[in-house]
Amino acid sequence: MKQFAVFGNPIAHSKSPDIHRAFAEQFDIDLSYEKVLVSEGKFTAFATGFFERGAGANVTVPFKEDALRFTDKLSEDAKLAGAVNTLSRQRGVIVGDNTDGVGLVKDIRDNHAQTFTGKNVLIIGAGGAARGVILPIARENPQSITLVNRTITKAEQLAEQFLPHVAVTTSPFEKLEQPFDIIINATSASLSGQQLPLTPVVIDANTFAYDMMYGAEPTPFMQFAEKHGATTADGLGMLVEQAAKSFEIWHGVMPETHGVITEIRDKLVE
Ligand code: NDP
Repeated sequence: MKQFAVFGNPIAHSKSPDIHRAFAEQFDIDLSYEKVLVSEGKFTAFATGFFERGAGANVTVPFKEDALRFTDKLSEDAKLAGAVNTLSRQRGVIVGDNTDGVGLVKDIRDNHAQTFTGKNVLIIGAGGAARGVILPIARENPQSITLVNRTITKAEQLAEQFLPHVAVTTSPFEKLEQPFDIIINATSASLSGQQLPLTPVVIDANTFAYDMMYGAEPTPFMQFAEKHGATTADGLGMLVEQAAKSFEIWHGVMPETHGVITEIRDKLVE
């Protein structure tokens, strides 16, 4: 039986084992998928031990950069994102990939029927999550990508790292003056129930507002956007879609995701 795992800290909340077991059932694939709580500073030791037998692993907060350093070979997405969420052992070589951005784009485009092409996109946040989605969004040919962050210097540094591949405009919150077609909250503000310093001027009735966070209730960002007329969604679909892409990398087949999103959503509200 092939062995898989997700490494993180904390990890108890992870839905990845449920998602990968549901995908495996679709193809009658026999696998084990464990949650592994890794102590700070111990990622390389845990990963080395695991890959003596393991076939693949997902990596979540705070180890995505440690995972990048652990690899022998990187995909283009992982290289530009500066982070790895999917590790695979292929003929003794450890390959790193980043499926977060592809998962986000697939969820917004296919599950929520929104097109990025020709649209003005606002990304809020300049941490690992924002970094991972910039290139996959740019591949969809939006009209513009604007990056806004509480600490503006971090947004400016991130935009610079994507040159010359992607043109990203940066702005402080208070300088945003027009509505956007798609707004993506890639901050961790919703984790602690905090409101963003966002002005309603960025939202109109055509805005699609997406929070990478998910939960049983709409996040504070989603509530704010809905109040000002936007259509909203949370990041549960992104979670399932990034897992589907990892599954495809490991098993060579793309699972069906709709039923799995519904199954995990039902468990959230139980
Ligand atoms: P980081 O810690 O790397 O970055 C956090 C970002 O949030 C920074 O830009 C920070 O701004 C900003 N921020 C935090 N609090 C506030 C606040 N009160 N007001 C304004 N800005 C704030 O986190 P990640 O990028 O790794 O993750 C961000 C979110 O994305 C998390 O909630 C995570 O759960 C989610 N995520 C979801 C995934 C999914 O599959 N659905 C996949 C990956 C991530 P500053 O620079 O000023 O500190």
